Amino acid sequence: MGRKAGVKASARGASDAAAPRVAPDPRATPAPAPTREQRLERQAYALGFDLVGFVRLGPAETAAHFDDWIANGRHADMQYMARDAELRHDTRRPHPGAVSAIVVTMDYGGRQPRGPVARYARGDDYHDVMKERLQALHAWLSADVGAAIDGRAYVDTAPILERDLARRAGLGWFGKNTNLINPTRGSYFFIGSLFVAMELVASTPFEGDKCGGCTRCLKACPTGAFVAPKVLDATQCISYLTIENRAAIPEPLRERVGEWLYGCDICQDVCPYNRKFSLPLTELRFAPRPVVDGMDARSLARRLLGMSVAEYTESFRGSPMKRAKFSGLRRNAAVVLGNVGLVDDAPALIAALRDESSLVRGHAAWALGRLGSSLAATALRERLVDEPDPDVRDEISSALRARDELPDSISK
Ligand code: SF4
Ligand code: SF4
Repeated sequence: MGRKAGVKASARGASDAAAPRVAPDPRATPAPAPTREQRLERQAYALGFDLVGFVRLGPAETAAHFDDWIANGRHADMQYMARDAELRHDTRRPHPGAVSAIVVTMDYGGRQPRGPVARYARGDDYHDVMKERLQALHAWLSADVGAAIDGRAYVDTAPILERDLARRAGLGWFGKNTNLINPTRGSYFFIGSLFVAMELVASTPFEGDKCGGCTRCLKACPTGAFVAPKVLDATQCISYLTIENRAAIPEPLRERVGEWLYGCDICQDVCPYNRKFSLPLTELRFAPRPVVDGMDARSLARRLLGMSVAEYTESFRGSPMKRAKFSGLRRNAAVVLGNVGLVDDAPALIAALRDESSLVRGHAAWALGRLGSSLAATALRERLVDEPDPDVRDEISSALRARDELPDSISK
C-alpha cells in the first residue's frame, strides 16, 4: 500500500472556516474520494471528538523520562503507575497486532466558571464517555472496511503514555505544567486512543515547544509541586492529595489546598493558551451534575460532611469524583472548611468528629482548631476523652494547642 507523507492532525470545525458558497462547475474535475483517514476524522468529529491525529505504534519517546520520574518517587503511592514498564516502553505491546492508533481529544469546557471541583470532574466519568465513543468509532471503521478490524480503545487505563502518542499524532506539545497543550485549543481536554491492526497514514508530529519563556504555571502552583519545568512531584500536588491519596493530607500542605475539594485547575487556568483558546462546554455528559453545580466551596463541603452513604452513592453514580471515595471526599471537605469555613460551619465539623472514618475525624479536628470558636474548642475537648484512635487524638491535641495560641479577641 502506497504511503503518503504525514497528514496534519486536525480539529473539528477547522476546515469549515467561512468558505464562500459558489455553485459547482459541471465541467470541473470531480473531487478525489476522501481517504480512509479523512473519513475517520469526519466520523470522529461526528461522535463528538474535537482533535484527531494518527500515529504508527512503536517505541514511546518519553518512556525514559517517565521511568526517571517513577525512580525518583514523584508518583507518590500510585503504584499502578510503576507497573508494566515494559508495556509502556513500546506502544505495540499493550495490544499485540495493533500497528496504528487514532488519537482523539474531547474538550471538557475550560470556560466553565471556577469552582471547588476541577472542571474535568463535574460531570460524567470521561473514561466511560470516551470509551463508548471510541468503541463506536471502532465499529464504524470495521463497517467502512467491510471486515472486522482488530483493535482496542484506551482512555487513561492502560500502561500507555497517551500524551506521548498525542504529541506524535500532531495534537500538541508538553507544556511546563506537564499537560499536552494544543496551540488553538489549550489543554482542557481528555485524550483517548483507538489502537487498530491496520495501517493508517501517520500525522505530522508536533515539533517544538510553544511555552517559550513563560513560567506562569510554575509560579502559580500553590504547593510548589513543580520541581522543574515539565516535572511534577505528585506528593505535593493538590490533585493527587485530594484524589488519589488515601491517607491524611500532610498537615503543612492542608492550608495550601485552599478551597479545592477535588482536584485543582490552577496551573491550567493561568496558561495563556487556555486563557485565549479554552471553549465553553458543549458535551452535555460533562455538564456539572446537580450535587456540584453552582456550589461554592463551603456549601459543598458542608453538604458532603452531612451526606449519608446512600445519598453519596446516588449523587455520584458515574462520576469521576468517586475516585476519591466517600471518606476521601469528606476528608477534603473538612480541610476546605478549615481553610475557608466560618463559625457557622462548626456544627458540620463537630458532627464529623463522630464520623466512622478516622481519616475524616482527624481532619475535622484540624479544621475545628482553625475555626477558633468556643463551641469548637468544647467539642474537641469532649472528643479527646473518648476518641479511640491515637492518630486522631494527636490531631485533636494539636488542634486544641493551635486554638490556645489564638488571641482571645478572635475566640468566641
Ligand atoms: Fe500545582 Fe494545582 Fe497544578 Fe497540582 S494541579 S501542579 S497543585 S497548580
Ligand atoms: Fe507553558 Fe506558560 Fe502554559 Fe506553563 S503557563 S504550560 S509555561 S505556556
